[in-house]
Amino acid sequence: MNSLIYLLASLCAFTFGYRIYRHKKRFLAARSYMLLCAVTGIAFLGFSVYLISGEFWFRVVFYSSASFVSPCLLLFLHKWDQKTETPKWMWYTNAGIVAVYVATDLIFRENTYETSFPEGFVSLCFLGGLLYCGRYLWHAMKKEEENPIRQERLRHLLILFGITIIALGTEGLLRAFIAYDAPSPLNFLARSESLQGLAPPVSASFCVLFLYVLYLNVTLTRLVDLYELFARLSATAFFALLLTTLISLTLYLGYDSNIHIAFHLMLVLILFLSLYPLLQQPIQQVSTQFFNRPGKQLHTALFEIEQSLPNLLSVDELESTILTRMHETGRCAITSLYLWDHDQGVFVRTKHLGNSTQDPIPHVAKTPFLESFSINKLVREEDLITPEQIPARHIMESMQAQICLPIWSEQMVIGWIALKPTPWSDGFSRDERKALLRVVEQIARSLDTIRSIDKLKEQHRLAALGTMSAGLAHEIRNPLAGIKGAAQFLQDQNQDEVHQEFLQLIVSETDRLNVVVSQFLNYARPLKLQLEPYSINDLINNVLELERANHKNVDVSYTYTPKINIEEFSFDPNLLHQVILNLLQNAAQAMEYNGNIHISSSIGQLVYAPYQGQPSVEIKISDTGPGIPKETQKKLFIPFFTTKDNGTGLGLAISQRIVEAHNGNISVKSNKGKGTTFVISLPILLVS
Ligand code: ADP
Repeated sequence: MNSLIYLLASLCAFTFGYRIYRHKKRFLAARSYMLLCAVTGIAFLGFSVYLISGEFWFRVVFYSSASFVSPCLLLFLHKWDQKTETPKWMWYTNAGIVAVYVATDLIFRENTYETSFPEGFVSLCFLGGLLYCGRYLWHAMKKEEENPIRQERLRHLLILFGITIIALGTEGLLRAFIAYDAPSPLNFLARSESLQGLAPPVSASFCVLFLYVLYLNVTLTRLVDLYELFARLSATAFFALLLTTLISLTLYLGYDSNIHIAFHLMLVLILFLSLYPLLQQPIQQVSTQFFNRPGKQLHTALFEIEQSLPNLLSVDELESTILTRMHETGRCAITSLYLWDHDQGVFVRTKHLGNSTQDPIPHVAKTPFLESFSINKLVREEDLITPEQIPARHIMESMQAQICLPIWSEQMVIGWIALKPTPWSDGFSRDERKALLRVVEQIARSLDTIRSIDKLKEQHRLAALGTMSAGLAHEIRNPLAGIKGAAQFLQDQNQDEVHQEFLQLIVSETDRLNVVVSQFLNYARPLKLQLEPYSINDLINNVLELERANHKNVDVSYTYTPKINIEEFSFDPNLLHQVILNLLQNAAQAMEYNGNIHISSSIGQLVYAPYQGQPSVEIKISDTGPGIPKETQKKLFIPFFTTKDNGTGLGLAISQRIVEAHNGNISVKSNKGKGTTFVISLPILLVS
């Protein structure tokens, strides 16, 4: 029985090594881990075959290969620590020890199965080597103060290593001092039975466990945390108990005949196999409820969030419900939500919950972080290992997140939920990650719905306001015509110079009011686009001709990309004419009709939601005017904002409205004293 366990242990060691071999390029220290697995596997294999056959040579193989385990482990630890210098002395010393052992054992060994002195010596050296490795691990753990997750992993590893060394030592002692004499070298079974000895093969199990934990560390797979382990073990223990009880019962019932026993065993197995799928789910649920309460609560919270999403009607409500519910479970130490802010052009942390010495960073730029997202997949900090991903990893660190769940809308990331699990855990389990992704998909849908509802509400409000103000404007226009007519009549009658001056003031101010009201009507009227395929170059050239004729001292130039005459690009030429003319007039006015204006058009890419990444036509209008102060830039597009004495403050507001009706965007860049550039981006997706 013992030999089978050793055989199994060696198989496990070889399997771990083979798994790493398949993807060795991806992992750090993969080669040295494979070497460690191979040497451990050979040692266990040697011992297992020795226990079965009693052949002396297998014993030599076992001791020789076992003594190379500690140098291999040390080599692995060095490589894992990314040290270039590896300890050669341990290899030489061990080679010497093995040589001395083999030579002396061959000479002095008597024909018994008891432990010989050379074997005792080599075992002591082996334990010494392991203790040295333990010391190295201890120092490595102490060093990792900046990285608590890695330190926690090393602590687990060290505890397990300590237990393994104690188990190995105890088993070695038991085997050395309580050995049976083989009754006869010829009786294979009896000899094998006696060699199995008193010592249970506990150390083999610990060695395999240790190799497994190392494997998880090398592959950076999440370590199963204690709560989950208990839950899983208790579920397995229940089934083991059930099977044992059933088998004992059949043995008791059918003790007199072997066939009877076999028959009963078969019945039990059938019974067990049919019960297993039925019972597995509830038992696992009960044990999870009992041992893994936060994990269970997270699942419940996610389920509740899913249920409540259709009832959440504002982004604020959505944010606080999701984050609060997730945080309450006790499974997440820090929970934060980042959403794309169109105006600032960055992702902004809209909310976060959790206690931490430092708050997660408030803003995250699109690049390089967004490059790590792919559709329907979450980003885990530990997966970001290639050099290109290192900046993204740093961003995750400053967000204090271990995973980020992207919120996708129309093939585009519009935000993410960043989560850090509670300190006792080493990350979210596969089930948890799946459930989280599913909920985030729903959240994205809800966000889309809320935004469209908000947009619709705003449109209704503006439409109502527009109708109201259009009516009001008409009411103002009629009396204005009356006032102007009366003033002009009086101008004709009255020859007094002072009166003439005031009457002229009334006429010019009513004219100005009329212009304001007309422009306002223009702004308030619902926009109806007359889309048609048109050449943007022709349009700009037309506007330029007009402008050149009007202002002789302004030098206007135009550069364009020839590709821009694409057929599919449709827009409303009259409205865009109005926009460009307005921008040109503003520029000329700002330069006091003396300076240079440069227009350029090119193909670009939209950088804002919801058409991020789509091709666009970009028109830039730059002047050499005085520039616009930062404070003023924020107010430019607000209706009625003007710095001019006779300005209406509606030109830019109307231009913005027209561009946005084309699903485009208008922005301004300006350096005080150096000039201003207005940029219009229009998506090339409007097919007439
Ligand atoms: P108006 O021209 O009637 O004032 P606009 O909406 O067209 O209204 O412009 C608003 C304000 O923006 C202007 O008063 C001016 O201060 C500023 N502005 C617009 N274009 C420029 C420019 N090219 N350079 C400097 N300031 C500008």
